[in-house]
Order: sequence, then structure tokens, then C-alpha cells
Amino acid sequence: METNLILYIVAFIFGTIIGSFLNVVIYRLPRRGSILKPAFSFCPSCGTTIKWYDNIPIISYFLLKGRCRVCKSSISKRYPFVEFLTGVASVLSLWKTGLSIDYFFVFSFIAILIAITFIDLDFKIIPDELNLFGFILGLTYSFFRKDFTPVDAVLGAVVGAGILWLIAFAYEKLRGIEGLGFGDVKMMAFIGTYVGWFGSLFTIFFGSLIGTIVGLIFAYVSKAEDKGNFEIPFGPFLALGAAVYIFFGDVIKNWYLG
Ligand SMILES: [Zn+2]
Repeated sequence: METNLILYIVAFIFGTIIGSFLNVVIYRLPRRGSILKPAFSFCPSCGTTIKWYDNIPIISYFLLKGRCRVCKSSISKRYPFVEFLTGVASVLSLWKTGLSIDYFFVFSFIAILIAITFIDLDFKIIPDELNLFGFILGLTYSFFRKDFTPVDAVLGAVVGAGILWLIAFAYEKLRGIEGLGFGDVKMMAFIGTYVGWFGSLFTIFFGSLIGTIVGLIFAYVSKAEDKGNFEIPFGPFLALGAAVYIFFGDVIKNWYLG
């Protein structure tokens, strides 16, 4: 019992450290900067290198009262939020897999989904690097899994990307505008390697459902002249559907298949 609790605490702390790294990825990757250079984080306002003691996940944000130590410009609440979210993802991954090689692959899956979510929210793009990295990880993982084969992984990728591509194609033909980016299609190929064909269907269905609900709420609260003009990225909703499936997929599948 105590050992379990300590493991979960370590998993949470490890997750927040990875979350801190994800903040760097989210900031640097879409700006085409190197992820690893410079090695230290810097304040986006004044450029000062952030000291290690000001860069402790979650804690530093509160110690600094959300402001840069040097220039006092405010630090986005998103940084501690991403760190916390990644900590929770690490705990959930451990809960799902136990201490095993599966933990590494499942947690990596969620970490990539988190990075994609915030880059898509900020820039309306999904970097190919993340989709490709995730695809390779998912395919590699399929060789280790007991519940899954490489054939399942490839089938998941083909079904996921194929269906989303068809939806995008139909939408463009019907409305004459591009509604879904090709980044979403590639993202589904990556997700499919992890969740298989049934999981791909679930992810698209769940993502579309939640995305539609959020879209309707946005349409309701936004001003009349903005209606139809706002753009809601689909990536975060696919990420949410995929995360729900990887953690609760067996429950969902048993319930659905009776
Ligand atoms: Zn500063």
C-alpha cells in the first residue's frame, strides 16, 4: 500500500518534469527553433535564462507569484497547468499499466497528445515530427503488447486516417472550404497505431461529439457577426477521445459489444 502511494507520487513528480519539457516543445517546435538548444529555458519577454530554482515544475510558478524574477512580466498559467496535466497523465498511465514497459509507451502516447493539443490550439497546426514520432512509438509498442499485434496497429492507422480523410474530402466537396486539415488525418494514423481500428472509430466519434458540443457553445456565446467565422481546431478533441480510449477502452469495448 505504502509502496504504491510512493510510486504514484514519484510518477506524478516525474510527469510534471516531462510536462515542463512539453512546455518547451510546445513553445519551440512550431516556431522552428531547436528543442534542445538553448539547453536552458528563457523568459519570452526579457530573454533572461531561467535559473534552475525558478524552473521547478508547478512550484516555481507559485513561488514567483506568476511573474518573471527579472522583468516581472507575467508568466502564462498554462505552464503550471501543462505540468500538472502531464503529472496526472503519468499517474493514470501507471494505474493503467503498472510498473512495466507499457508505462513508458502509454505515458509517451499521452505526452505527445498533450503537446499536439496545445500547439494546435495556438497555431492551428500539428507538427509532422510529433505525428511521425508517435506513429513509430505506437508501431514499436505493438510488438510488445499482449492485447495487440502490429497488424492491429497498422489496421488502426489505416481505418483512423482513412475515415478522417473521407470526412475531410466530403466536407470540402459539400461546403467548398477546407474544414479539416491534413494534420488531423496524419494524427489519426498515429493514434490508430495505439488504439486499433475500434479505438480509431471511438476516437473520431467521441472527438466529433465533444467538438460539436464545444462548437455549439462557442457559437451561442460569440457575437452574431462572428458566427461561422471562428475556427475550432480538431486535434485537441481527437487527443481527448484517444486518451479516454487508452485508459477506459476495455470498459467501453465490453459495454459496447455487450
Ligand atoms: Zn523576464
